[in-house]
Amino acid sequence: MSGGMDQALGSPWGDETAVVDALLEWARRRVVRSSDPKTTARPASELRDAAGKTVTPSGIGAREAMRVFEEVLLPATRSMDDPLNLAYIAAAPSRTSMAFDCVVGAANVFGGLWETGAGAIHAENEAIGWLVELLGWPSTAGGTFVSGGTVGNLSALATARENARHRLGGRPEGGWRLACTAEAHSSIKSAVRLLDADVVEVPDERGRLTGDALRTVLAAERDAGRTVFAVVATAGTTNGGLIDDLDGIAAVCREFGAWMHVDGAYGGAGLAAPSVRDRYRGIEHADSFIVDPHKWLFSTYDCCALIYREPRLARAAHTQHAGYLDEIDREQWNPADLAVQLTRRTRGLPFWFGLATHGTAKYTEAVETTLATARRVADHIRESGHLRLLQEPTLSVLLFERIGWTEEQYSAWSRRNAVEGVILCVPTKFEGRSVLRLAFVNPMTRADKVIPILDTLV
Ligand SMILES: *Cc1c(COP(=O)(O)O)cnc(C)c1O
Repeated sequence: MSGGMDQALGSPWGDETAVVDALLEWARRRVVRSSDPKTTARPASELRDAAGKTVTPSGIGAREAMRVFEEVLLPATRSMDDPLNLAYIAAAPSRTSMAFDCVVGAANVFGGLWETGAGAIHAENEAIGWLVELLGWPSTAGGTFVSGGTVGNLSALATARENARHRLGGRPEGGWRLACTAEAHSSIKSAVRLLDADVVEVPDERGRLTGDALRTVLAAERDAGRTVFAVVATAGTTNGGLIDDLDGIAAVCREFGAWMHVDGAYGGAGLAAPSVRDRYRGIEHADSFIVDPHKWLFSTYDCCALIYREPRLARAAHTQHAGYLDEIDREQWNPADLAVQLTRRTRGLPFWFGLATHGTAKYTEAVETTLATARRVADHIRESGHLRLLQEPTLSVLLFERIGWTEEQYSAWSRRNAVEGVILCVPTKFEGRSVLRLAFVNPMTRADKVIPILDTLV
């Protein structure tokens, strides 16, 4: 290690070399070690007592702050990358992307503008380019990385609305209306509220939005003199992993001049897997798309790729203007022009570095591995007398029930296994009743570890 820092002289922080060395060494050990599945949230009052007062006029020192982090704070967070964390949608970043995330932090690039972040943005765009190829979109498509699917969906729908405002010459009679099913993610309803729009709910067919149902609803809207500016289709619903009838939806969107947004926050990763690729047919016609590499594309939090077929339409919605921003070259690729953000971390870089290092074929393989694991576990459930598979898996989410069990029994079983660090598998609702759900995104999850645990549901 070098002795002393370049900047120690005159720095208000003094010589921070020893602290930097200690923290980087900690990060190195953390990246290669598995996280502990028994870690869990604690009440704030307990944390306050255990951590003591950490922010004080004179500071508690790096050693003590790090002790509190390691012994008190980190154990009160959930292990998201444990191979048996199969609740909600977990995470499975590669060690490469975790380590590169530390590098990105160290590089401290301002990623909002080309002028300040060109090299990093170029690399992010390479990663987006791979997704554009998977979508089957023209190479003129593009986008940026935002914090998560929630901001991605909001940014895409704000662009859709701005585009409609421009086309219609203002707000349409009856206001801004957006069509989706009840299965659309909660972030869609949040975006609709923020955009002062209304949801036109389309009845789903066994959880899926279909072109036929959409046509009926859009025709009724038109007959009533109202305009639906956007349709949200889901490629991989969070609860059941279902993919909407994208081809049918695309045809109806064309017919009615509505913007087609595809929310693939979780399921978009399946585009890389030949075994399921045909289920996405029609996605090549969509106008905007999101996928979270922090979910099923092996990157770190937080990372959502937001992609537009015609990025210039996003600029109309998102470019910020101010005296001090007017010097910015708007011909360049400025991520700030494409989403609800100005200052941004180049959070797509850990994803890019993983892709650059391992190659896209490895990503295909890793997604296929998780799909195969989900199918093996599904086979076991189908063959178990005491369990019932509730739908054939489209992607890597399984919904199933223990025949005869009540909500209380599911909760007790789920909680016991969570506390003991055995498996994280939490109940959900399916057709109004309590059932169990497993979501596979981690290529390290092994079916032969999951199956014996399911056998304890007797
Ligand atoms: C997770 C998810 C979101 C929200 O993404 P965040 O990254 O949590 O903001 C949106 N849509 C779907 C389908 C999701 O699974």
